[in-house]
Amino acid sequence: MADNAADVRAGEHLPPFANSAMDGFAVRSADIQAASTERPVALRLAGEVFAGSARLPLVPPGGAVRIMTGGPLPPGADAVVPVEQTKPTPERGEVLIGAAVGARAFVREAGEDVREGTVVLERGRVLDPAAIGMLASVGRRAVLVVPRPRVAVVSTGDELVDPGDPLGPGQIRDSNSWLLVAQARRAGAEAFRCGRLHDDPDALRKGFALAAAEGDLVLTSGGVSVGDRDYTKQVLAELGDVRGMRVAMQPGMPQAFGLAAGTPLYGLPGNPVSCFVVFEMLVRPALRRLAGYPDDRLDLPRVTAALGEPVRSPTGKVSFLRVRLELAAADGARRAFLTGAQGSGVLSSCVAADGLAVIPAADRELPAGATVEVILLREGSHG
Ligand code: AMP
Ligand code: MG
Repeated sequence: MADNAADVRAGEHLPPFANSAMDGFAVRSADIQAASTERPVALRLAGEVFAGSARLPLVPPGGAVRIMTGGPLPPGADAVVPVEQTKPTPERGEVLIGAAVGARAFVREAGEDVREGTVVLERGRVLDPAAIGMLASVGRRAVLVVPRPRVAVVSTGDELVDPGDPLGPGQIRDSNSWLLVAQARRAGAEAFRCGRLHDDPDALRKGFALAAAEGDLVLTSGGVSVGDRDYTKQVLAELGDVRGMRVAMQPGMPQAFGLAAGTPLYGLPGNPVSCFVVFEMLVRPALRRLAGYPDDRLDLPRVTAALGEPVRSPTGKVSFLRVRLELAAADGARRAFLTGAQGSGVLSSCVAADGLAVIPAADRELPAGATVEVILLREGSHG
């Protein structure tokens, strides 16, 4: 879904004309002020109006017109009596009205939902289903939108093979490119895999240049730590102003960031969970800003929870622990439990996680019961 890039104003009233909210009879309310179940008032039938009727009969004094939901209020009438409060006697050309209603009763007025000229969708509003329905309702066939950013995803590593290919000695599956494409799409971007590159400076140079040309933003993974074949940083530095850095977070410390051939590039660590966490914490807000989302919709939602068990974390780095959330049946308190081993390559504990518990850099250990913030990773995972 894209974001609209300018306020959208209604070009017409919604609804465009006064119409009936019920199946019933259009009447002059003054005629039936004395009506009740015991003493119904008889009105002469003067025609029918359906949704879509263009020629409307006049409702004369003492008359009534059968009207269906959505039918335009005919001239002369100022109210509708629902069919449940009437007793039609067509053989006598009459309807008995068993209740008094006030002027404008059961009438949906022209412009009651939206008045012509008012802003129906503010700039930056995501074009979700309700918004799309509104655009159609007010007759808008096209609106300006912020295009979804195109994200080119590149994996690096001699050891990587695609799912479906045989695993040779020392080889592993390339999970990061699939993971990152899925994350970028969920964040509102258009994302595509743009190569699996060998740890070879020439291949990296060509691959990164291609990704920078194809994407509005490039995500690479692997090769940004201090291994002997970690050429990524070196090659990226040649392509533009991309620098390696150590970010005080765990997982995900080694990273690179900058402009490669003019395109913003994030060099993410190779370990899949590091990759995942850095994306959600640092890449996602940037992507969403590019996609035109307002400031309050850049980050994933957070809740607070009590730790269900003691946790340890290194000092000097913010730790993101994979947790599942539970609501205690007794008091409704939300508790967070570790989902398993927290190594940066352990994807299974990520799959099991409802969220990431944030342990501030200053804390080395927190006891069970300590309150933490939890970043929610999935819809409906509030525990
Ligand atoms: P690196 O940052 O390149 O040193 O990689 C760190 C670890 O992450 C190594 O165990 C790599 O095999 C692993 N790794 C790197 N890229 C990927 C990938 N695309 N998918 C899965 N694991 C990867
Ligand atoms: Mg590598």
